[in-house]
Amino acid sequence: MEKGGIKMGPGFFKKLFGKREEDSSGMLWIYSQCDKCGEKFRTLVRKYNDLSPTYKDDGPAYILKKELIGACCPNRINLSLEFDRNYRKISDEITGGHFISKEEYQS
Ligand SMILES: [Zn+2]
Repeated sequence: MEKGGIKMGPGFFKKLFGKREEDSSGMLWIYSQCDKCGEKFRTLVRKYNDLSPTYKDDGPAYILKKELIGACCPNRINLSLEFDRNYRKISDEITGGHFISKEEYQS
């Protein structure tokens, strides 16, 4: 069986990572906002420290769950993120709040 045209040499992943500047530090900022009071949150995810491996062949390779509690109200915000083997975010879910952009956070 033929395996497509992509040759995965030893340098393949290195090259891939080199092009993705936002991944070079392994840091990811998640911006969110409380649904109840509108308080804004900025959460730092250190990909190489904070993620929990799933040890599964299928689905996400790493997951991260975080609970945010604001200063303004007792509402709890739960973040649930999923990453693939290359530490790229493949899905994100939030309850009690919603995701906002960096621009919205700073405005
Ligand atoms: Zn709140």
